[in-house]
Amino acid sequence: MKQAGSVVAAALDEVRKHVRPGISTGELNDIAEDVLRRKNATPVFKGYPNPHQGAPPFPATITACVNHELVHGIPSYRKVLQEGDIFSVDCGAYYKGWVGDAATTIPVGAISEQAQRLLDVTEKALYLGIEQARVGNRTGDISAAVQTYVEQHGFSVVREYTGHGVGRNMHEDPQVPNYGEAGKGIRLKKGMTIALEPMVNAGTWKTKLLDDNWMVVTADGELCAHFEHSFAVTDGEPEILTLL
Ligand code: MG
Ligand code: MG
Repeated sequence: MKQAGSVVAAALDEVRKHVRPGISTGELNDIAEDVLRRKNATPVFKGYPNPHQGAPPFPATITACVNHELVHGIPSYRKVLQEGDIFSVDCGAYYKGWVGDAATTIPVGAISEQAQRLLDVTEKALYLGIEQARVGNRTGDISAAVQTYVEQHGFSVVREYTGHGVGRNMHEDPQVPNYGEAGKGIRLKKGMTIALEPMVNAGTWKTKLLDDNWMVVTADGELCAHFEHSFAVTDGEPEILTLL
């Protein structure tokens, strides 16, 4: 899983290097896909079934979202990043039968102070959540750490989409929401592998699904951010798996 995770980290790193005003999310998808192919990994998202009946499977290697777009955006050559945007990218890879899953949100040129604060708070919430992933703690300890930190900073956590177990498949048990109560949920054991992914909105936590049955945006059109790592519960410190 560390090897699968490092492929994903390499893809996100390459995308980050290319994010600038004027590049399209379609081009960024090609860049990520190229990294996966070169490392003999396979995209998890490409062909991923849509949970809504009759809707087509996901067609790309990354999900690409800009500003108020939260998750599951389909990359496009017609969608061009502009100075001041924030761009969130999620990527999953299969490598030797195991999955890595990670996401990040990247500034496009110079961004507003509010946008930067949203990115900082969301990323810090991810690390505070992972910090709770210790033997004997429960999933609720992770969830509560994320929610508390985010709400202390005046932002909100999305309810409809959650972190999850990860392993042979991208989505395994248990679900790990970004909200909840400390001391509740599944007890954590050594060897559990989880993808935690705070989705944080500047305004309301409510979201809405667009007509393509993939793209999820904030209900009020305010900014949002998304950071994710896959990690393992160990005897001691949690170990992040989606690193270079
Ligand atoms: Mg992901
Ligand atoms: Mg995930």
